[in-house]
Amino acid sequence: MIAEILQEEVHKCNKCGACLNSCQVYKQLNYESASPRGKVQLIKKILAGQLEPSENFNKILFTCLLCESCTVTCPSGVKVDRLMKAMRAELVKKSGQNWKKKGVFKLLASNQLLSLSMSFGRTLDTPLRTFMPKDATVGTLSLARLPSLNKKPLRDQFPGIIPAAASKGRVLYFTGCATNYLYENVGRSVIKILNRIGVEVIIPKDQMCCSLPIFLSGARDRALDNIRRNIALFNRADVDAVIVDCATCGAALKNDYVHILKEMGEDADPARSMAARVSDISEYLEGFDLREFFRPINERVTYHDPCHLLRSQGVKDQPRALLKQIPGLEFVEMVEADACCGGGGSFQVQHPDISSGITSKKITSIKDTGAGVVASGCTGCRLQIRGNLKDESIQVMHPVELLAKALK
Ligand code: SF4
Ligand code: SF4
Repeated sequence: MIAEILQEEVHKCNKCGACLNSCQVYKQLNYESASPRGKVQLIKKILAGQLEPSENFNKILFTCLLCESCTVTCPSGVKVDRLMKAMRAELVKKSGQNWKKKGVFKLLASNQLLSLSMSFGRTLDTPLRTFMPKDATVGTLSLARLPSLNKKPLRDQFPGIIPAAASKGRVLYFTGCATNYLYENVGRSVIKILNRIGVEVIIPKDQMCCSLPIFLSGARDRALDNIRRNIALFNRADVDAVIVDCATCGAALKNDYVHILKEMGEDADPARSMAARVSDISEYLEGFDLREFFRPINERVTYHDPCHLLRSQGVKDQPRALLKQIPGLEFVEMVEADACCGGGGSFQVQHPDISSGITSKKITSIKDTGAGVVASGCTGCRLQIRGNLKDESIQVMHPVELLAKALK
């Protein structure tokens, strides 16, 4: 059953309902078990032995974006998202995982298999785009609007150590799978900016998927090997920081590794020591005055807060402050910039109707700003927004891509 350190959480819930309005899923579905409060109460009954986990309970538990809005809103401090993550792990331990997820996790747990499947994907990319129906989708995402795979993985495009002319710092770069295989321009931008300000970049070649998609689905045992291997590579005292460009990977490295190891009764100290050095790229760059490096760019830009950056890591002002350093850039806030985009990883595939309802509000907020660019430091959010934004005139970018574009 759920680790003892989490069991007391359910007793903290006084059913006040303050979390209800923060939950986008509840606002779409409007019934109690879709709400954070309802989920906590069901978990409480299961822990007390008053209810048996069922197929329906499983469905309820996975009808959640794990956006953490309820956790940060709860006046009693109930760690709702951590409870749900731990409960998912219990269900998987008891009933196993479906074969499709098992297949995906097998890929994410092996660099060789992942690399092989990506080169296979590259070969099929052009024929697929030519022959697939124009309105084909995966979940809510338009397939035609998915980015193409990198011609070559980012980690194969650079040496393991990229020295800088000045010696202003030294960082390890956790590229994550998305930047390595899909968003090379984000990785190139990170390296370009860090090098320009005099920071040496080290890219550990054997780094693994952060494993967040694996453990959020409940397969904690399967994720352990990735977690251990990443800690062994990134828990180094001879660097200033471990830089991450993806909100989701950052949340895993900074928070989840420690919680999971602790809840599984493993030694969490190395994870804690690594976590103390993990910085989202915007947090790290905040320590530098970049204005001397920039030329003006005339863009109206808005910013979407990824759940895993805002609520998991408390990063809100840094990306905005960086963008505002670019001369000529007009920054405009969208309404409810902090509201989840509705992606939630595989949530948008499993619950396309709920996801669409949430995403359409985000798309309206973006369009209402009149911005030509929406920036966001999360791979999943950019995929979700771009895949649902039926407007070619609005670009979806990582903030570092704008910073790199503005470099003289
Ligand atoms: S806000 Fe917290 S205490 Fe109130 S119902 Fe929600 S989880 Fe329970
Ligand atoms: S994590 Fe988000 S989606 Fe899930 S219950 Fe909490 S507020 Fe709702």
